[in-house]
Amino acid sequence: MKTCSKCVMPETAETLAFDDKGVCSVCRQVEFKQTTIDWTARRAELDGLLDKARGSGDYDCIVPFSGGKDSTFTLWYLVRECGLKPLVVRFDHGFMRPTLIENNTRTFRTLGVDVHTFTPNWQVVRKLMGQVGHEVQLAGLAATAAREFLPASAMTLVLAGVPAALYERAKGLKESTPVSIGIWLAGTLMLVGLPYLLLPS
Ligand SMILES: [Zn+2]
Repeated sequence: MKTCSKCVMPETAETLAFDDKGVCSVCRQVEFKQTTIDWTARRAELDGLLDKARGSGDYDCIVPFSGGKDSTFTLWYLVRECGLKPLVVRFDHGFMRPTLIENNTRTFRTLGVDVHTFTPNWQVVRKLMGQVGHEVQLAGLAATAAREFLPASAMTLVLAGVPAALYERAKGLKESTPVSIGIWLAGTLMLVGLPYLLLPS
């Protein structure tokens, strides 16, 4: 089995690629971050943005919160390190695990933040999940959502891809199938389009 010549990550790791020197894409990305990006300038740029936002309204900013390490770190950083007063916005799709909910509650209480949670109509979520196999219908809905609500953020698209990736892994698939694409579209819809589809203006 091929492994990275620097960090010994194996080629079986998902999304890993190797260059002609046998170094993996993660190692190259680390090098890029350490050598190409001027972090002092980036920090100054961020501080400038935060200074503009600070005290600009009832809340200084909105933090979309999934409960993963990225959004948790972002929230911690803005509150504790930058002294901002954010409004946390969370989308509860009905599939949050108890541990995740406990962790989120502890985070919110420890940091002392206001949280706004949107929960879509469960009957609609159920129907949508039941339609996962019907890619054509979903593609139509996704097209509607895309037309109405672009740009969906890259992060939303990545998050929506997680269930599809799990499905593909469980099935041992090498490539996407109509069903896994349908799952991805359903996830995207739930994250981005559902509130708007339910409440057309
Ligand atoms: Zn490596």
